[in-house]
Amino acid sequence: HAKKQGKKTWKLFEEEMQLSIIKRLRLENELQQALVLDQLVAFYQPQVHILSGVITGFEALVRWEHPSKGLMPPFDFIPLAEETGLIIPLGELIMRAACRFGNSLKKKAKTKIRVAVNISARQLMQEDFLQRVKKIMREENYSPDALEFEITESILMESLEENIEKIKELRSMGIHISLDDFGTGYSSLRYLSSLPIDILKIDKSFIQEIDNTANGAAIIGTIIQLAHQTHIQVVAEGIENKIQLEAMQKLNCDYLQGYLISRPQPSTKILDFYESRQGKFSF
Ligand code: C2E
Ligand code: MG
Ligand code: MG
Ligand code: MG
Repeated sequence: HAKKQGKKTWKLFEEEMQLSIIKRLRLENELQQALVLDQLVAFYQPQVHILSGVITGFEALVRWEHPSKGLMPPFDFIPLAEETGLIIPLGELIMRAACRFGNSLKKKAKTKIRVAVNISARQLMQEDFLQRVKKIMREENYSPDALEFEITESILMESLEENIEKIKELRSMGIHISLDDFGTGYSSLRYLSSLPIDILKIDKSFIQEIDNTANGAAIIGTIIQLAHQTHIQVVAEGIENKIQLEAMQKLNCDYLQGYLISRPQPSTKILDFYESRQGKFSF
């Protein structure tokens, strides 16, 4: 009886495996098509200076306008894109879009504004990554000092020496580098001063710990102090309410990003938002 039962379970397992393999293959095919059919678009979320409310930058965040599933968040397809290598054309598509967005912004903005794009491990590891970036800048007629690359701690640590060399070269081109999701990985407080970065982005999981009693703020305060000692500026991610905003002001954080200011929006919407507020957010 037990043997029979075992066989049955195995058969179910096999069927499920096949189903998930088919699903995955279908999604991979669809993602490949999405690149060709222009279904992948960048949304943009503003970053503001914490004291003045001036909008100083935007982060480009990919969305998939899926014909039947609707607007898909990166969580649902970025891992697959990374596994299959599709992250390379995807990343370049978003980089180009960000340059175009930045150029239209330049016409409306009174201050210098940067557009940030997320860079995945696979992209950074390409031998000719720098040449590829330069080609895009040239073709889009975009100035590198208005561009920022967001790189996560874990990517940076993956092959530290090699990546640090590349990042140094990107910086010497004028591109700004930020360390994304800080605090979720290696907690590299010890390494902070040795990393060639301009900006540190405190992960939203830390911000979410700030409550009415401002608990959870102590660690953030230490991170900010240490960053400032090494001339690194700090962005707080995922600011959703006034309590978090005020806590970050008290802790001397430099910039904010979060739903309190705006959710990520399509380029036309966010350009309207920028114009109607005259490039400034009032808290
Ligand atoms: P990330 O780079 O850390 O981006 C910040 C995420 O936090 C975004 O999620 C953003 O929508 C979300 N967020 C912003 N403000 C708030 C807030 O106040 N509350 C909450 N709960 N969330 C907030 P999103 O757009 O779903 O992106 C998720 C991740 O996908 C990104 O995390 C990034 O790692 C990755 N990703 C997005 N676009 C790209 C891309 O073009 N290339 C690559 N390689 N990765 C990307
Ligand atoms: Mg990011
Ligand atoms: Mg982040
Ligand atoms: Mg994140």
